[in-house]
Amino acid sequence: MSRAAGSPAKPPAFVDTHAHLGGYGAELPDVLARARKAGVWAVVAVGTDSASSRHALDLARAAVDREQWPLLAVSAGLHPHDASRGAAEMPVLADLLFAAKAEGLSPSVGETGLDYYRDLSPRPAQRAAFWAHVELAHKLNLPLVVHDRDAHADVLAILRGGAPFPAGGVMHCFSGDMSMAEACLSLGLRISFAGPLTFPRSDDARAIARAVPADGLLVETDCPYLAPVPHRGRRNEPAYVVHTTAALAAARGEHIDETAAALSRNARQLWFGRHPERHGMTR
Ligand SMILES: [Zn+2]
Repeated sequence: MSRAAGSPAKPPAFVDTHAHLGGYGAELPDVLARARKAGVWAVVAVGTDSASSRHALDLARAAVDREQWPLLAVSAGLHPHDASRGAAEMPVLADLLFAAKAEGLSPSVGETGLDYYRDLSPRPAQRAAFWAHVELAHKLNLPLVVHDRDAHADVLAILRGGAPFPAGGVMHCFSGDMSMAEACLSLGLRISFAGPLTFPRSDDARAIARAVPADGLLVETDCPYLAPVPHRGRRNEPAYVVHTTAALAAARGEHIDETAAALSRNARQLWFGRHPERHGMTR
């Protein structure tokens, strides 16, 4: 996995800005090796509670220490599904993010947000936890990673209450309409597309992908969920972000190199470029 071990099979061009890496167990080194071979230069490891966020932080630390490729950044937060545990979890997450920032690991805050589709935590608890993440992002001056499922109006209300976001942020696995996308962009947040962009019925998402300015876009796998075509229905992994990037380029009528370059620039601004020396980007 070391860069010294040889150059990737493809030039490193792609970035997966939202991956849950806790479920791969002993397979994780192979999963990351496949990402490297596919040309993925960076992955954001996203936690959904303090345990998975600590795991993501440990991965990011190890990647930096070993000069591992792909680069890993950490996002630490409490998923809306688990928001009812907010009182116990938020102080732990705050400590973790403070440490990650102090180490120059360029973390982000989340994933957080609202999920009114599954409603696994009571909605007032979801809103309280979301707001606590917004405050934490401001306090630490870090980007915010937002999950929104069937909760567009309440998500926007909380984001408007917390705006502006000088450190930026991302609407992960974006599922809103054009006006939601425009509202989020105007608040300083980026729009991230996941595997569903490759699905035959996603014409609405592709229309939004075409309309968003290049500096407002991101792409992700949200692995192990939501594998893009041609892996749909199977376990997802960071290497497959190449397919979603290709779908994004096709929707925008761009060459994939142009799209990938814009996506990499945007990811550097939110994560990897904030402490280039820590992420080996000055070598
Ligand atoms: Zn996620």
